[in-house]
Amino acid sequence: MTMMPRDRKAIDESTRNSYFNNVFLLTRLDIPWPECGFDARPGWLPIIEVTLERLITAGWDKKLDQVKQKFCQLRIYISQCERDQNGFENELGLIIRQGVEACDKVCEVCGNERERKGCGMGWALCNACGKDE
Ligand SMILES: [Zn+2]
Repeated sequence: MTMMPRDRKAIDESTRNSYFNNVFLLTRLDIPWPECGFDARPGWLPIIEVTLERLITAGWDKKLDQVKQKFCQLRIYISQCERDQNGFENELGLIIRQGVEACDKVCEVCGNERERKGCGMGWALCNACGKDE
C-alpha cells in the first residue's frame, strides 16, 4: 500500500513553502545549492537543518550533492567520504544516519509523528496527512 497526500492543495502549499525554506536554509548555512537538487518538504526540514549544522561542526566541507526523499526515507548525499580508511562509518556518516533515522518517525509534510515508521512507497506521511491508494 502506498501513502498519498489527502488533497492536492496541501501538496502545492507544502511544495511552494518548502522551496523557499530550503533556499533560505542553505543560504543561511552558506552551503551552495546542490547540483542534483534539494527536494525536501517542511516536515523534515528541522531535522535536515540540525543534521547540516552538525556536519559543519564536524568539519564537513559543505559540498552537498543532493537532498531528497526516496522510499519514504531521507537521503543526504555529500561529496566527502562517510567512511574511514577501514571502511567503517566516520563521524559524517554517523550524523547523516542519525538524521535519516529521525525522519523515519516523522511526517514529511506536517512534522508530526508518523504512525507508519521507516521506508515504503509514496510519501512519508502521518495518517492525518495521507490516505492509502
Ligand atoms: Zn502529517
